[in-house]
Amino acid sequence: MSKSKKAVVLLSGGLDSSTLAYFVKNMNYEVYAVSFDYGQRHRRELDAAEKIGKLVGVKDHKFIKIDLRSIGGSALTSDIDIPNKKNVEEILDSKDIPITYVPARNTIFLSIAIAYAEVIDADVVFYGANCIDYSGYPDCRPEFIDAFNNLVKLGTKKGVEGRTIRIEAPFLFYTKKDIVKTALNLGVPIEMTWSCYDDGDKPCGRCDSCILRENAIKEVYAEIRKKK
Ligand SMILES: [Zn+2]
Repeated sequence: MSKSKKAVVLLSGGLDSSTLAYFVKNMNYEVYAVSFDYGQRHRRELDAAEKIGKLVGVKDHKFIKIDLRSIGGSALTSDIDIPNKKNVEEILDSKDIPITYVPARNTIFLSIAIAYAEVIDADVVFYGANCIDYSGYPDCRPEFIDAFNNLVKLGTKKGVEGRTIRIEAPFLFYTKKDIVKTALNLGVPIEMTWSCYDDGDKPCGRCDSCILRENAIKEVYAEIRKKK
C-alpha cells in the first residue's frame, strides 16, 4: 500500500486559504490544517476555518494560540481603526505597507507550520499567499518564500538530512479573480469563508480585504453571466 502524502495547510478561514485547502485535498493529499488564534480583531475567521476544515475532511486541525496582541503594531492586533478605502485602484496603487500588516506574522506562522510538518513527517507546507491583487505585504512575495525555503533546509532536522520541507504557494501569481474561479470549480462554499479585517455579523465591505474580494466575486459572476 502506498503511503498517502501528507501536507500542512495554513488555513485562516479566508477565501484564499479555504480555496487552498480544497485545492490541496483535490491533489490527494492528507490535509493537516493549522489555524492561528493570534489575538486578531476578526475572530470570525477562526469559526470559518473550523467549518471549512471539517468540510474539507482534514486529518487533523491545530488551533494554535499566539498572543500577537501583546506586541500589537497592527490594526488587526491593536486598537487602531481598520482603514476604509474607496475602491480597488486606491488599494493597488498605494505604495505604502498598510497598517493591517501584522509584524512578521507570516514568518511566525510558517515557522510553526514547518515545526508541525516536521513532527508529522509531511514534505510540504501550503500557504495561500498571492502577490498580484494584494495589499503590499512583504511576507506575501516570492522572494520571501524562496528565502524561507532556504531557511528550512538549514534550520530543520528534515532539511539537513536531505528531506527538506517545501513551502508551496500555488496561488502566488493568481489574481483574486483566479482564486474565485478556482473556488467555484472546487465547490468551495465561498459564503462560509471570512476575509473581512473586522469582526461582526457581516463583512464591513469597506476594508482592503472586503473590497478586493467583493470586486473579484462580482467580476467573475459578470463573466459567467456574459457566457450564458
Ligand atoms: Zn471588511
